[in-house]
Amino acid sequence: MPRKNDNMTGRAGKSKAAGSIIAADRNGGGRRSTEAGPAASGIYASGPAASGNDASGATSSGAASPGAAASGNYVQPAETTILTIILKKGKEQSVRRYHPWIFSGAISSVSGNPREGDVAEVFAWDKTYLATGHWAPGSIAVRILSFTKCGIDREFFRKRIADAYQYRINSGIAGRNDTNVWRLVHGEGDGLPGLVVDIYGSVAVLQAHTAGFWHIRQMIAGLIPEVTGGMVTSVYDKSEGTLPFMAKLNPANGYLTGGLNVNGTVITENGYKFRVDWEKGQKTGFFIDQRDSRSLLPKYSKDRKVLNMFGYTGGFSVYAMSNAGLVHTVDSSAAATTLADENISLNFGDDPRHRSFTTDAFAFLAGMDREYDLIILDPPAFAKHHTALNQALQGYRRLNALAIQKIKPGGILFTFSCSQVVSRDDFRRSVFVAAANTGRNVRILHQTGQPADHPVNIYHPESEYLKGLVLYIE
Ligand code: SAH
Repeated sequence: MPRKNDNMTGRAGKSKAAGSIIAADRNGGGRRSTEAGPAASGIYASGPAASGNDASGATSSGAASPGAAASGNYVQPAETTILTIILKKGKEQSVRRYHPWIFSGAISSVSGNPREGDVAEVFAWDKTYLATGHWAPGSIAVRILSFTKCGIDREFFRKRIADAYQYRINSGIAGRNDTNVWRLVHGEGDGLPGLVVDIYGSVAVLQAHTAGFWHIRQMIAGLIPEVTGGMVTSVYDKSEGTLPFMAKLNPANGYLTGGLNVNGTVITENGYKFRVDWEKGQKTGFFIDQRDSRSLLPKYSKDRKVLNMFGYTGGFSVYAMSNAGLVHTVDSSAAATTLADENISLNFGDDPRHRSFTTDAFAFLAGMDREYDLIILDPPAFAKHHTALNQALQGYRRLNALAIQKIKPGGILFTFSCSQVVSRDDFRRSVFVAAANTGRNVRILHQTGQPADHPVNIYHPESEYLKGLVLYIE
């Protein structure tokens, strides 16, 4: 069963477990069984390689800049020691294939007195340098920032964030007139595991998922306006719900630079307007990751009766309203449906074609007749960990069976899973079983996923968390 989310605190599981953006405490999962890639020399290289490639001299102080925090020039505190981590023999293979996580079981020794969030240089058992990253005491012990020996300083992060921005310009996401909401940094997908930055016009919402990024949040907040050429003027830190609980960092959400400009809370996506509440809303305020699937909707919603289940603030509903005959939005959160109504009004005025229902999606589906031509199922993650995988698959089977059974003949189903532990194959199989149980003919129209501003790092399959199917149901 999905979690109810009345307080709008987050799509369960999408970003919480293990302090990782894509929620993975996989205990060794993610190691690919394919052949080892080329030696780690180029990927995520940043700045000139430091002299030497062995563990000797790996301990040094980060350059301190007293009082620089407020101006955004913060670097690791002066007393920060760069840790030296030596791996067990044979445990370097996944690092050589550029996988950005090192699990605690792979580690032979950690130097000195490590503190959560310290920068660590990682060496193979024979002292060959492998990578540099942030250390944490959990199962994912190191999140790798660079596979080339270099300083992890302000310039390092400036370049990484500038690369992320350039990638979004090159892929046609940033710099558009009709869309000013997009993700600037997507953790591992941008070589910055532990950091998420979403852009809402002139406001950036930052989420640190690791102590490493939380310690340097002020520096990152200084870099975002710089890298985006002044487009961003405020940076809001929303790390309260994403930092590992055990780190005891006592984070408090708030503005790191700038502040709230109420006029700025209406953003535009593909020309549609949405009011976004990044301070109280789920995730960073808006489900930016569904932009591509939402834009597919009007292709199928013309003159149809549309049911948007788990609708949140009405993302899919607004797109459907462009041409549908009727649109119903269902969400268990009253705060969400209130904002959904407001978003419909923002775009279509007081339009009787739309109605919201604050109720449980399963109960709504069970109680309805075959009245809708198009149904959207975009539930929260049903599983955060592998231990809950079977229960999650059961949830997807049950939900999809209900919708497939209840959709009108010739209907279209948009169905999604954002559970990172549920693979694309797992999800497709669940929907297949659901369809088979109803006995209806089902064809796959589209297989969708996360948009390009949520990039999948090819060396980190766990980055791919969002799976979607668009089905034609006879
Ligand atoms: N499709 C949305 C995002 C959905 S997030 C968009 O494009 O913006 C998942 C939503 O499911 C959340 O808003 C949450 O409040 C809601 N939810 C969780 N459990 C639910 C349940 N049992 N019934 C109805 N809604 C539920």
